[in-house]
Amino acid sequence: MLKMDTPIQYVKGVGPKISSLLARKSIRSVGDVLHYYPRAYEFHHRVGAITDLEAGTICSVQGMVALYREIPMGKSSRRIHEVVIQDKTGRLALKWFRSPFKGYFSQFKPGKTVSVSGLVKIYRGVREIHHPDVFFDSPDNFEEALVPVYSETEGLNQKMLRKIVHEVIAQTVPQIDESLPEWILSQHKLPGLRESMIKVHSPGDGDPEVWKEFKDPHQRRLIFEEFFWLEISLAQARAGYVAETAQPFKALLKMATQLRKSLPFELTGDQEKTLAEITRDLLKPHPMNRLVQGDVGSGKTIVAFMTAALAIENGFQVAMMAPTEILAEQHYQKAKAQLGPLGVNVVLLSGGMTEKESNFAKKEIRAGTFQMVIGTHALIQGDVDFKNLGLAIIDEQHRFGVKQRAILKQKGMSPHFLIMTATPIPRTLAMTVYGDLDVSIIRELPKGRQPITTKVANEKQRRSLYSFLELELKKGHQVYVVYPLVEETEKMDLKDATHMAGVLADEFKDFKVGLLHGRMNSDEKEDLMRNFKAGKIHVLVSTTVIEVGVDVPNATVMVIEHAERFGLSQLHQLRGRVGRGSQKSYCILVSGYAKGEDARRRLEVMTQTQDGFKIAEEDLAIRGPGEFLGTRQSGLPGFRFANLVRDVEILAEAKATAFELLEKDPDLKDPKNLLIRQAVIEGKRSQLALINVG
Ligand code: ADP
Ligand code: MG
Repeated sequence: MLKMDTPIQYVKGVGPKISSLLARKSIRSVGDVLHYYPRAYEFHHRVGAITDLEAGTICSVQGMVALYREIPMGKSSRRIHEVVIQDKTGRLALKWFRSPFKGYFSQFKPGKTVSVSGLVKIYRGVREIHHPDVFFDSPDNFEEALVPVYSETEGLNQKMLRKIVHEVIAQTVPQIDESLPEWILSQHKLPGLRESMIKVHSPGDGDPEVWKEFKDPHQRRLIFEEFFWLEISLAQARAGYVAETAQPFKALLKMATQLRKSLPFELTGDQEKTLAEITRDLLKPHPMNRLVQGDVGSGKTIVAFMTAALAIENGFQVAMMAPTEILAEQHYQKAKAQLGPLGVNVVLLSGGMTEKESNFAKKEIRAGTFQMVIGTHALIQGDVDFKNLGLAIIDEQHRFGVKQRAILKQKGMSPHFLIMTATPIPRTLAMTVYGDLDVSIIRELPKGRQPITTKVANEKQRRSLYSFLELELKKGHQVYVVYPLVEETEKMDLKDATHMAGVLADEFKDFKVGLLHGRMNSDEKEDLMRNFKAGKIHVLVSTTVIEVGVDVPNATVMVIEHAERFGLSQLHQLRGRVGRGSQKSYCILVSGYAKGEDARRRLEVMTQTQDGFKIAEEDLAIRGPGEFLGTRQSGLPGFRFANLVRDVEILAEAKATAFELLEKDPDLKDPKNLLIRQAVIEGKRSQLALINVG
């Protein structure tokens, strides 16, 4: 009898070899197999005769093995394996570009009847199927027309995967308990868990069009469930914050008003709206948890400083955390310039400090002398103690939010939280990623910004690119040149930043070229950035360390080399380094001719729009949610069956259900919510592990 935690190699047909292949897919136990959901569904037509096979359809057909041979592939040592089968009506070529396993082809004995299935193609007038599923033993056994498609790994084909899954389903489904309360199932018209488990792995005679779109109720059921447990955890986190108490601020606005008056510009409508939302939060006796989402250059920093002013006037200390030393340094300089004159003592805690300096700083932070403390996230994780921390600002790195909160809580503090991100996330995603936070959006860019002209250039245009750069430099403007890598690697023919810095220095003899890369220590980086900001360096050649947050309004050109290697959001972030002042700015995407379809589309999107939210939507569409929500972006893990783009509506349903449920029954005492209570208490649902976002 298989149990959920039985190691996979005890499943019939799975030996040590297959189990080690499965382990590559993180499938180790019987339970893992159950949750190894299909990534797609295919409809296999069963066709009576080989001549009836139509190109472009997925079909299965029977035939007799006629021959097997290896066909050399050009000059390389690789070979195509070809098996030809035939029936009374014609011949079908089966081709493999790699052997599934050693000895695989010895099974195709001439004269043997097999059943094969796969996508039919026509090549030079002959029908063929590449990497077909083959049924040797009982060729008639191929009954299912609608079949699940699993994500494969080398050495494991669809047929093996289906067989293993079916074996496990048959034995374990009776052990599965329903996980959602009856009222949720009936409210959302969802079938039971057992039934759904069986069906998603073997949809049988389901409607292929419905299944391919993942719209069958059994599919919906599992998708709903996956979203639901995530939303329950977010709803709980949210309820937790609401239950926490914090010192409410008073609406003391003298300092903020002074700061506002000292600015050479007026705040935009969205900045004002965001400030009003923040202020409202801060007057409440619960900690604020607000995320400010603002496109690059939308002016989040000043919003943070205005908030800091309010906190400081209320007698609290403020911690401001940036993802890199460069950014921390930049905030420090700005804070000193803008808040310093109002009497605020600002300190920078940096990795470059001597022990003596940092000990002194920490002592004075403890004593409350410094009202504003700026640093990287190490600021909070280390042995820094505050006298009276009232506000924590996290810039550009939302994924730290949850962790920092937990650390501060351990230290007995529960400050208000302001989290700022320049990664515009589509609304639907924001809902899941930040379901526990309040969100303010700064969409409007400051007045007087000119659109950034974005152009794609190729190698042949390099000379004219340099002439253009020279023109800009002569106007007194500054230039960024960004490279994807630090050093040349043998594999990729990338001109590396180090080399290019030399080339550009030769090219622009009258100007100073600096090089910034990730292997430099923080002192070197800061020095260089300071010089660039001060206008002592005119061309800054850099790897992507420059990416986030750096603000040098005099820089008007961003050249991105090998632009095809960057993701869309990253390109947008990089472009956001220019166009920050009132001067006309340019972004030049240098790219070779040989680029894939996706890369072409990315560059095209860049030339068409500058709206970060639109770009994020496109990025999501091009890369799919799995990639888009990679570690850097979100801190959220991927989903097993659900798909954030495809299943948005189910997500909204699951979210509404979870949040309403916890609102009505915060302690899950209602007997009808017993299953949820148990799941939450036992942390039984693997999805609940998601609470530890970040
Ligand atoms: P980000 O949102 O990307 O962090 P910053 O806060 O660095 O943007 O602001 C970008 C630039 O815009 C800064 O030089 C800042 O001084 C300027 N800025 C901010 N708000 C305004 C405004 N309302 N009008 C004009 N310039 C502004
Ligand atoms: Mg910023």
